[in-house]
Amino acid sequence: MSATLEQATMNTAKETLEMTDGFHLVIDALKHNGIDTIFGLVGIPITDLARLAQAEGMRFIGFRHEQNAGNAAAIAGYMTQKPGICLTVSAPGFLNGLTALANATTNCFPMILISGSSEREIVDLQQGDYEEMDQLNAAKPFAKAAYRINKAEDIGIGIARAIRAAVSGRPGGVYLDLPAQLLGQSLDAARGKKSLVRVVDPAPRQIPAPDSVKRALDLLKGAKRPLILLGKGAAYAQADADIRALIEKTGIPYLPMSMAKGLLPDTHPQSASAARSYVLAEADVVMLIGARLNWLLSHGKGKTWGAPKQFIQIDIAPTEIDSNVAIAAPVIGDVGSCVSALLAGINSGFGKPSAEWTGAIAERKDKNLTKMAATLNQNPSPMNYHSALRAIRDVLKTRPDINVVNEGANALDFTRSIVDMYQPRKRFDAGTWGIMGIGMGYAIGAAVTSGLPVVAIEGDSAFGFSGMELETICRYRLPVVTVIFNNNGVYKGCDPNLNPKGPDVAVTAFVKGARYDKMIEAFGGIGYNVTTPAELTKALTEAIAAGKPALINAAIDEAAGTESGRLINLNPKSAAAKK
Ligand code: ADP
Repeated sequence: MSATLEQATMNTAKETLEMTDGFHLVIDALKHNGIDTIFGLVGIPITDLARLAQAEGMRFIGFRHEQNAGNAAAIAGYMTQKPGICLTVSAPGFLNGLTALANATTNCFPMILISGSSEREIVDLQQGDYEEMDQLNAAKPFAKAAYRINKAEDIGIGIARAIRAAVSGRPGGVYLDLPAQLLGQSLDAARGKKSLVRVVDPAPRQIPAPDSVKRALDLLKGAKRPLILLGKGAAYAQADADIRALIEKTGIPYLPMSMAKGLLPDTHPQSASAARSYVLAEADVVMLIGARLNWLLSHGKGKTWGAPKQFIQIDIAPTEIDSNVAIAAPVIGDVGSCVSALLAGINSGFGKPSAEWTGAIAERKDKNLTKMAATLNQNPSPMNYHSALRAIRDVLKTRPDINVVNEGANALDFTRSIVDMYQPRKRFDAGTWGIMGIGMGYAIGAAVTSGLPVVAIEGDSAFGFSGMELETICRYRLPVVTVIFNNNGVYKGCDPNLNPKGPDVAVTAFVKGARYDKMIEAFGGIGYNVTTPAELTKALTEAIAAGKPALINAAIDEAAGTESGRLINLNPKSAAAKK
């Protein structure tokens, strides 16, 4: 080789070494912002992006369906206040992930759905590309924000924008569109490095106006029957110590919404959960902390709310105020700042609630707890939700650090009221939409994020939406124990076929006596089939101690459970079904 040719070859090699591309810049930009995990499912055009993430020291958790990967990312976001990342292929993969993105936005969980997309020129002219879809516009109604990056040098700023949009203010889901050609674009490495952006103070504190704090305190001071309602916005805020101090210093009884359970231990003497209907109906001033007056709270009106009342509402989103009923004292800011401002204003002149109010609540609680204990202590055969949940409750009491995932109809309703939580952000459930299908996604997200065991308490119907992820749980050897309340059907398994001459079973029926435990055995996990509370206790204790993937098929009475659980009023009935 001549000296000049050798020099030229060296220069080319040097140039090659100093180039970067869209793939690398996406990974660099995520890492630059402390993001270390991607949940997703590979395929055209993002397989190499996932490979590269792994090569660069990030975790890539590969799923069997994008919806579950998206749910894992969303719950990771809720647990950490950092956006969870879900990576999918174009069109159908994107659409599968979009369900999770919409759910994250609805629940105010920060996540970013990153999807590869087909060639822009072809998509925009609708010329029929492989997996052609205008994903950016499809995502917009379901996301808090949606962006597309077209040039490699914009990757740094695009990812920064997505991160800030997901976590600042009211958190939510962000869609980020990455066209295939962007990933392959090359760029001078030095310029690429310079284009990265580290997001400074991604979720700035939002300090409440002092007059709004005073207005709230004045209202609280004058209350005869005050009540505090904690929502998952309060749990998300990670202001646990101040929230507890506010509750204990004021002595006001409180109710946790389902995902705020454990913010204070459910056994706390001021918890009014066991007298829920009574306090909602009787309170005269209710302070909402990170909770919306949506359907889960009967929109703040009607029979549930009984006596006229005034509301104080702490929320980061000003438009949440007066969304359903008039709010007498809005306090706009982040929960941490608002609660600490309220705490600072609580002085010696602030009396505790009257013994008449707290005494009446204690009386209701005692009565309801005694009644519940009697139901829980029965041992019917076959077992039912109550006897099975008594067993689960007692095992989980010994492991307050365990994450609990919960979905179903009756399985959700009964677990929420029977299984106590002791630590914040340990309960992940059907949430704002009351949906099914979050189970295995949330379980995987929680296990990967916390490194702690997860117990997923699932209705047999709910489990079906994400059941294939048992393979993912086994592949990554996650300490997830899934308990399936198996009553052979949706709601229950004993409905008749309304057309007995037709070939099919009832619309709510599943295969009778199904053995879901065999499913996990197919992937090397541990399966248990139990029919009594004692067997359930033994299996659950053993499975948690093993720290390995396990599934307990808990066969319960097929007549146990009511249609639609506690949401009977939301389910219109035709004359045929009523027969
Ligand atoms: P739940 O279902 O538990 O009642 P919601 O999801 O309905 O809770 O309400 C959560 C509320 O918390 C939302 O209105 C959201 O804007 C608010 N929120 C979320 N994060 C924060 C935060 N850091 N500070 C203040 N409010 C927050």
